[in-house]
Amino acid sequence: MHFKTGEFAMSEQKVSGSCLCRKVRYQITGNMGVFQYCHCSRCRKFTGSAHAANLFVSPADFSWSSGEDSVGRFDPEDTKYFATSFCKSCGSSLPWLSKSGNVVIIPAGTLDEDPGIRPSNNIFCGSRPDWYTSAGSLPEHEDMPPRKK
Ligand SMILES: [Zn+2]
Ligand SMILES: [Zn+2]
Repeated sequence: MHFKTGEFAMSEQKVSGSCLCRKVRYQITGNMGVFQYCHCSRCRKFTGSAHAANLFVSPADFSWSSGEDSVGRFDPEDTKYFATSFCKSCGSSLPWLSKSGNVVIIPAGTLDEDPGIRPSNNIFCGSRPDWYTSAGSLPEHEDMPPRKK
């Protein structure tokens, strides 16, 4: 799987992803749906980050390539839609099927290739924590900045 982005039409695109230890690998084919940042408190807990970066695809366009037996799942009792998946070896977030069963949510940080679409929305902004600061408003360094003495 070494397709270059842009080489194929959207409907023929294949994009792969994996967890940190690479035991679990998956592939998305077909149309990419919505790509958005979610600022809800559940996504914050699950990712441990300021917000989730989620891509939505049809279950028909998603498959595990390897390590499916290492995929854990957590279904909170109080949710209708939200669940989580994670690698049992390294703890990374992994794609999860919504409780409704009609969409797979891909944590974009697990992608190994460019999905070809870009985030278009911030949702649940009302749930942002007090410390939230937009990444774009902070100074940028190409890598680890020199230590201040
Ligand atoms: Zn892993
Ligand atoms: Zn969320």
